[in-house]
Amino acid sequence: MIIFDLSCSDNHRFEGWFRSADDFGGQLERGLVSCPQCGSADIRRLPSVLHLGSVAPSPVVTDRKEAAQATVPTAPQLSALRAVVEEIASKAEDVGNQFADEARKIHYHEAPSRPIRGLATEDDCSALKDEGIDILHLPIVKPEDMN
Ligand SMILES: [Zn+2]
Repeated sequence: MIIFDLSCSDNHRFEGWFRSADDFGGQLERGLVSCPQCGSADIRRLPSVLHLGSVAPSPVVTDRKEAAQATVPTAPQLSALRAVVEEIASKAEDVGNQFADEARKIHYHEAPSRPIRGLATEDDCSALKDEGIDILHLPIVKPEDMN
């Protein structure tokens, strides 16, 4: 069965159920399709929104479970993040506990500008932020990087 959106010459819209498009054509030719409102047999087929919509399927998440899973990073995403973090860490100079001092020196052009990494307390971090110094918390740090 297929459903066609139909309209009579007075623009009364209704649905017609047919076995096939040929069935619809045959019934139309024999005047068997008529408007339920005015009885007119002058019927035309309207382009179906449903059919048009199915031409280009778009990725729509309908399942709630799927939607929740989509926000959780997958293993490849996590390893990509780890790679980025390690890339930054490998290029940065390890200044250890001097991180806050060194970051300040770089900010005030007392030391050559370069990426650095090291340890900083929460107080250090907020103080640096207050001074307008951009720092990045790296969420993944290997234990051997901590000394
Ligand atoms: Zn009508």
